[in-house]
Amino acid sequence: MTHQVWCVRFYLHPKCMKCPFCDNVEDKVLESRETDDGETIRRRRECGSCRGRFTSYERIEERPLLVIKRDGRREQFSREKLIKGLLRACEKRPVSAETIEALVDELERELHREAGREVMSSKIGDWLMERLQAHDKVAYIRFASVYRKFEHVSEFLKEVKELTAS
Ligand SMILES: [Zn+2]
Repeated sequence: MTHQVWCVRFYLHPKCMKCPFCDNVEDKVLESRETDDGETIRRRRECGSCRGRFTSYERIEERPLLVIKRDGRREQFSREKLIKGLLRACEKRPVSAETIEALVDELERELHREAGREVMSSKIGDWLMERLQAHDKVAYIRFASVYRKFEHVSEFLKEVKELTAS
């Protein structure tokens, strides 16, 4: 008899597989292969305790990264949303879509490496602003005005002045 076990395997909990017969977690993998969709791995396993055999289907999921917003609310990190915001800031500016994609790729890698499971939205904003500034100052200002939500026009003008002076 074949038991099938579905397991969403998070990076954080690599040992979540349990034997369906005796709940033991130590097992031996007899055979592994990808399913046709390429996203799921099918493994034949043998329990190290009762020798029961079962099949597991594992899907790798990235642990979700939460963004803490200015008002304390949390929302899931959205790559699409960031790219949309950056494209808007770079409209009619000499910053290519490839550059924007590459920026967000780099940001994502950075966040997964050093941030925990939560990151302040201001940190993301600062990081992107710093890089955007090197590419295009107008795009930078547009992006900064959205992200920093300048409270007064004078604050905004000060930023512009500092930029044009440099
Ligand atoms: Zn077992």
